Amino acid sequence: MIPQTDLQWQQTDWQQGLRQAFRDPAELLAWLDLPTPEQDALLAACQDFPMLVPRPYAARMRPGDPNDPLLRQVLPLAEEMTPTPGYVDDPLAEQDANPVPGLIHKYQGRVLWITATGCAVNCRYCFRRHFDYDGNANGRRQWQPVLDYIAADADIEEVILSGGDPLLHQDAYLAQLVTQLERIPHVRRLRIHTRLPVVLPQRVTPSLQNLLRETRLRPVVVVHCNHPAEIDVATGEAFLALHQAGATVLNQTVLLRGVNDCVDTLAQLGEALFDYRVQPYYLHLLDPVRGAAHFDLPLEEALSLYDALRARSSGYLVPTLVRERAGAPYKVPQFGIN
Ligand SMILES: *Cc1c(COP(=O)(O)O)cnc(C)c1O
Ligand code: SF4
Repeated sequence: MIPQTDLQWQQTDWQQGLRQAFRDPAELLAWLDLPTPEQDALLAACQDFPMLVPRPYAARMRPGDPNDPLLRQVLPLAEEMTPTPGYVDDPLAEQDANPVPGLIHKYQGRVLWITATGCAVNCRYCFRRHFDYDGNANGRRQWQPVLDYIAADADIEEVILSGGDPLLHQDAYLAQLVTQLERIPHVRRLRIHTRLPVVLPQRVTPSLQNLLRETRLRPVVVVHCNHPAEIDVATGEAFLALHQAGATVLNQTVLLRGVNDCVDTLAQLGEALFDYRVQPYYLHLLDPVRGAAHFDLPLEEALSLYDALRARSSGYLVPTLVRERAGAPYKVPQFGIN
């Protein structure tokens, strides 16, 4: 592949941006002026869960820094292959709440629809890194059972498109899907969970903005940003564009050792998000998924960090610290030490 200069990829459309993503750890490390570690270990981790890093995201990493907080989120490591008791393939037992392929109905009033079978970035800590996307493949042909299920339950007021990343679909595909949902009278809100505005900001296209602006459903977009260094001007503008299209824009973060387990980092993240009209929503404790144990921190440490964050941030900049528990009727809030 011809090496791209920064300027070239900034001018490309989002699909082209995706094709140019880094998929080979050695290539990403060389690009960051970092040595390549032992190949065998890397290979095993990549086979378990491939590496995928869009270039606009890689461009925000500090060259020469092996501990860069963005790099740590996406670089396969040998540690992932160390078995750790309690860290399993399906930590949230989602397979028990999967009434039709592609749909997860765990909480009252809202369903989560897995419309895409991949993401624009592969986050190493992802609780769905071993998800059965094939068994839940959800092309247009599989829409009807999902739509029938939603139509049959008048309690369902909100449909959450999640992932895989729903914004990996073309806007025309999303528009058709939204049209189908709009026809179900009791559905009032459309929520999109996506990391694309962060890792490939050009995904927030004018046609996506139109879709959000024009739907009769109340749109909510939950972005997924873990560190203030993830927010550059392009990302900030993508957030603003979602807000200007009438969406309520929220952010969820996963608390990760070596990435954002620092009160200054979390406080700065809340401030930077708010500058671009994004409201901090959830701070998740890590779900115990196989391969991600090295990102976890002890609960007491998480709670005292959270307490320190509360002590230094405006209340509305502090996300709710939550832990997901299989079988619980909501994401369970965790409180600080006071
Ligand atoms: C997180 C999640 C939701 C949304 O929960 P909120 O607390 O409303 O953000 C809905 N369904 C599933 C399966 C989820 O995992
Ligand atoms: S974008 Fe979200 S769903 Fe996709 S790999 Fe990252 S954490 Fe997982």
